[in-house]
Amino acid sequence: MTSALHRFATPAAGTAAAALAAAYGVQLASYNVPLPPTVACAGCIFAVGFTSLHRAVKTWSSTTHRCTECDFTVRLRGADAAESRRWQEIAASHPGHIHRP
Ligand SMILES: [Zn+2]
Repeated sequence: MTSALHRFATPAAGTAAAALAAAYGVQLASYNVPLPPTVACAGCIFAVGFTSLHRAVKTWSSTTHRCTECDFTVRLRGADAAESRRWQEIAASHPGHIHRP
């Protein structure tokens, strides 16, 4: 399910990351850094920026239910209230708790 937030957020994250990468690229070019390292650095900044923003949007738009006794976690996106409530109950009382040493 694709929400309006995701339709808007992915291009916005790409645009923001591209602007940040271009700004760093221009800054490096002003110090006469050769083109290959400038392009590599700008590409890395774009990748990290886009991934971080995209991940943040996914985190903000999802609902997380956790078990209070172990590490069991359910993350839902685009679920209605009934579905969210059902997963909340499952997370609260699932049969096999995952205990880590
Ligand atoms: Zn548990």
